[in-house]
Amino acid sequence: MNIQSMKLIFLGPPGAGKGTISKMAAERLGVPQISTGDMFRTAVKEKTELGLRVQAILAAGGLVPDELTIAIIRERLSWPDVRQSYILDGFPRTIPQAEALAAFSSPDAAVDFEVRDDLILFRLTGRRVCRACGAIYHAVTKPPKVDGICDLCGGELYTRNDDREETVKARLRAYHEETEPLIGYYAGKGRLLTIDGSPDAETVYTTFISEIGRFLKK
Ligand code: AMP
Repeated sequence: MNIQSMKLIFLGPPGAGKGTISKMAAERLGVPQISTGDMFRTAVKEKTELGLRVQAILAAGGLVPDELTIAIIRERLSWPDVRQSYILDGFPRTIPQAEALAAFSSPDAAVDFEVRDDLILFRLTGRRVCRACGAIYHAVTKPPKVDGICDLCGGELYTRNDDREETVKARLRAYHEETEPLIGYYAGKGRLLTIDGSPDAETVYTTFISEIGRFLKK
């Protein structure tokens, strides 16, 4: 795929595959992936001022306040690497975030990965992530060759703190209440691409690539 410019938002519930598909796009197409969730987790790990502010919110599965999240994305989108293309993985997550984004950038499309809640629960509670390179596994559907060790880099695999069942349920509630209205928001602008996120990642990625072209400028 030959892209001049590709500015995308990835919507969908937690565990819909936004991170996996945006990492595939970053590797295969060179489009920078920006994940607010990764930025917050790094801040928590490094115990920065931001990390200390958001730690409890992430652990409870709630949303970080709009003002803070918007300021972080506004700054990140001023970097030269994202002038032509980006994938926002996990932002915006509320209508005020989407309205703020519209004032400083013009996304080509919002891609909504649809997955049912029961599959989300299965996916997230079994998810394992490499501490070193961020590769994603699943205890049942995509186990590593050696238990607890990343196939790609040998790093240690761990369960994200917020992938515990109770937290996943809280994250799903936040999704339905705060984020789902964005589907109507982008549909109303004629910028919504809906994709079935329930098949395996390669299938979802292939569908995404074959459908996204009609939203991009030639
Ligand atoms: P994620 O990795 O995208 O599932 O994000 C992990 C957590 O980071 C979420 O459960 C929220 O607590 C927080 N977070 C990520 N993105 C946002 C956002 N756009 N607005 C508010 N909170 C966010």
